[in-house]
Amino acid sequence: MKKKIKKAIITGITGQDGSYLAQFLLSMGYEVHGIVRRASFEDEQKLNNIKNIKDQLILHEGSLSDHLVTFKIFSKVMPDECYHLAASSFVNYSFNNEFETMNNNFHSTHYLLSTIREVKKDCKFYFAGSSEMFGDPNVSPQTEETPFNPKSIYGISKVASHYLVKNYRKKENLFACTGIMYNHESSRRGSQFVTKKIISSAVKIKLGIQDKLYLGNLEAKRDWGYAPDYVKAMWKVLQADKADDFILATGKLYSVREFLDITFSYLDLSYKDYVEVDPKFFRASEHNPLCGDSSKIKNIIGWKNTKSLEDIIKEMMDNEMLKYKTK
Ligand code: GDP
Repeated sequence: MKKKIKKAIITGITGQDGSYLAQFLLSMGYEVHGIVRRASFEDEQKLNNIKNIKDQLILHEGSLSDHLVTFKIFSKVMPDECYHLAASSFVNYSFNNEFETMNNNFHSTHYLLSTIREVKKDCKFYFAGSSEMFGDPNVSPQTEETPFNPKSIYGISKVASHYLVKNYRKKENLFACTGIMYNHESSRRGSQFVTKKIISSAVKIKLGIQDKLYLGNLEAKRDWGYAPDYVKAMWKVLQADKADDFILATGKLYSVREFLDITFSYLDLSYKDYVEVDPKFFRASEHNPLCGDSSKIKNIIGWKNTKSLEDIIKEMMDNEMLKYKTK
């Protein structure tokens, strides 16, 4: 008998994680669907991460803030798995962002879960949670048992969505899971993130295109993982025997200064000659660094990180260099 092809729907398919996940699911033989906003549909730049696989994907145009859109797409596709990665990621409390972030992030999750309940109850659901849900925790590293204490509207929207996921799992019997992901990087990371900013500036400095790199708090620390490892974890979470929530992290903290040192040393340069601190890039409040304990997913699912921070930096650097070699 012919094996049934599994169908997956990804929200946020054009982003770093969505594009790696789409690539991975295609390699596993899935039929991969993506929900993409009209603005991205009409902008080649926004589709850049999926340009090499676009012909193999089925893209649906629509906004996740419209329940009917979700309902129509799910009724047509009847997916086996849904990965909800799309989110507004403003972390500050400016008036517009506050309502937009909450509306986009919370309602989209609610619409997707209720659609699955009505249309395809056996569709498994992965929700992209974030370390921001812990905000300013009083223990380090954090586990799945650590109380949430979000300090941003983004974190609050993720905690609220996570509780929806939990309730749909318990009350509606959906296979719905949250992966609480700590920072994860790659050459597809957005240019506003400090890792990508450092890598692209360091390469420009090496090539003589840029003189200085202006940064904020060099002592800030992050738990930086490798994005392709985290998308594999998403898939593994949905293949487990039982729906549950898991932390995805490395458990190792590095400072921005250490990141700089590794990056510039790789180019035979000293970051001290080029980096200047600009208060403009300081955050209003910086809490205790977030560091995750991923023992649960290691023990139950057998997932682990494959790259050290040095390896991640090397890969990001090599990719950045390639841009200039092919010009
Ligand atoms: P996120 O804040 O965890 O989402 O990730 P970012 O990459 O934006 O920031 C990581 C850390 O780098 C934060 O603690 C920032 O305070 C610190 N940082 C220092 N200088 C900069 C900078 O110029 N840009 C950004 N984005 N972050 C910086």
